[in-house]
Amino acid sequence: MNIIQEFETIAAISTPLGTGGVGVIRISGDKSFEIAKKILDIKNLTPGKICHGWVVDGNTKIDEVIILPFKNPNSYTGEDVIEIQCHGGVNVVKNILDLTLKNGARIAERGEFTKRAFLNKKLDLSQAEAVDDLIHAKTSNFAIQSARNLSGVLAKKIKEIKDGLFETASRIVAGIDFPEDVPEPEYSYLIERFNNTIKEIDSILDCAKSSDILRQGIKVAIVGRPNVGKSSLFNALLNIDRAIVTDIAGTTRDVIKESLDLGVAATLIDTAGIREEGNIDKVEEIGIEYSKQSVKEADFILFLYDAKEGLTKDDKEIFEIIKNKPHLVIANKIDLANDFMEELSNTIKISTTTKEGLKLLQETLKNNICNFTPEETEFITNKRQQHCLERSRESLERALHAAKAEELQDMIYIDVKSALLSLEEITGEVINDDILNNIFDHFCIGK
Ligand code: GDP
Repeated sequence: MNIIQEFETIAAISTPLGTGGVGVIRISGDKSFEIAKKILDIKNLTPGKICHGWVVDGNTKIDEVIILPFKNPNSYTGEDVIEIQCHGGVNVVKNILDLTLKNGARIAERGEFTKRAFLNKKLDLSQAEAVDDLIHAKTSNFAIQSARNLSGVLAKKIKEIKDGLFETASRIVAGIDFPEDVPEPEYSYLIERFNNTIKEIDSILDCAKSSDILRQGIKVAIVGRPNVGKSSLFNALLNIDRAIVTDIAGTTRDVIKESLDLGVAATLIDTAGIREEGNIDKVEEIGIEYSKQSVKEADFILFLYDAKEGLTKDDKEIFEIIKNKPHLVIANKIDLANDFMEELSNTIKISTTTKEGLKLLQETLKNNICNFTPEETEFITNKRQQHCLERSRESLERALHAAKAEELQDMIYIDVKSALLSLEEITGEVINDDILNNIFDHFCIGK
């Protein structure tokens, strides 16, 4: 039987504040039915049965509504829940929320409904995080992938790995605790088990990169020396005047980011010009540091140089930094370079001034990025989950090493236990309050 934890009754508006067809106010906690009865002209609320009536404040009619009553544990939070569907006007929903607060509810914190669902074991932590992913998905594809986690795909895989590891741990413990009755497991058995578990963890971690791209979209950075036209290209691609364009070298001092529609979610990053030497003031220096960081973080680089000046020593140095990343080479200001000579293969020639070559660049970029972006991935994970997996893997590597050296099984057990604990953090069986609060603080109010 689920143990339902005791909490105050909370209420919040669960739909976005704005005008719309319907607004939803959600109440959760053991006073939900009592509060609902005080503010409704309906006296019989049957759990699981939709009903219709009016929200009233004394003799004043507030709105005509539909009520969805849920009795614990059969609700989203696992508590008694009342959902009120009213007309979707900002003031209507606010009036109804105020009435619930006046009658004994307190306003819900960010993610508090989902946090209660987790604490009441309606969801594990990976599923709770999937709820947030689903709400904030930037592409329809990522929303579909997040829904898979909500249905428990990641949780199931983690459970499989944990069960296997738990079995190994139990055999080690039995051998340690009852040496006369139970033989210690063979080292060859342990080595095989640890290797297999590491492989299983790797199968999830292998999806991490695709998972990150699906989650955030692809990051495209425009990189090059100062004044080669990065900001102009940024503007041309976005069709807006977001970056400042001047003819003084080094005007893009910080990193500017904008979403770009390339058929897949993409973020275009305009970086300060990378320049190793010369008179660089402090602000620009910080910008250059950011640029190098952006190159590191970016999934795809647009390497830009000045067609009129040709590939300079500085350009070549920058190219060395980016060449191992997926990239396109672009010679800008082709309108000024009548005798242009291609120095790097597949250079795309453009002019952000005359717009020559921009269409071709856009098409090439789109094709490259589509090829590069995964349609789907077996496992969607976030940074927290990836970090837990990495820690678990490290513990298993230590256990493997110790098993190969035929060390005492007591010592091996310590690492197996720590690998298990890291896996349990993913699903939230072991978790501290700070991590938990940190996760739910990112949610919206009403979720
Ligand atoms: P950034 O420092 O690399 O971001 O370069 P900007 O975009 O600020 O451009 C530097 C200067 O080059 C500005 O005066 C732009 O108007 C000019 N510029 C940029 N692209 C072109 C181009 O295709 N042709 C010509 N003639 N000038 C350009």
